[in-house]
Amino acid sequence: MANETLTQPSILACCEGCQNHFEVNGKVILSCNLKSEDGEAITLVCYDCPKCSRRHYVQIDNEHTKKLLHELKVHLARAARASKRDNFVSKKQSDKAKKIRERLKNERFALMAKYQGSKLYDPITLKEVEVRFSV
Ligand SMILES: [Zn+2]
Repeated sequence: MANETLTQPSILACCEGCQNHFEVNGKVILSCNLKSEDGEAITLVCYDCPKCSRRHYVQIDNEHTKKLLHELKVHLARAARASKRDNFVSKKQSDKAKKIRERLKNERFALMAKYQGSKLYDPITLKEVEVRFSV
């Protein structure tokens, strides 16, 4: 499943464990579906250092931010069709996209703050994951 992070061009990351610099692109970015202690379904986007395999968490989503992301995609697709037809993007449409992006950013930020340092569970392996964000 593509999301906003995956479609961005590759970036250079520095490992928090061994200080190794490595390229982060669609090939190394993983997403994992986890559950919080109170049962909230959480999707984390992460990548591993190729040298020491330390895991870095960079993005978090729950059902609500996924809905916002979907809303944004639908809106952008609609805006793209309209701009093709009319040859311009209306201010109303670009404002709306901006607003959804802003909400998405804020909600992800709040989720990160909520789950920073907490434990999540892999519902399949039941393995416990301690979350520390690298952003
Ligand atoms: Zn490393």
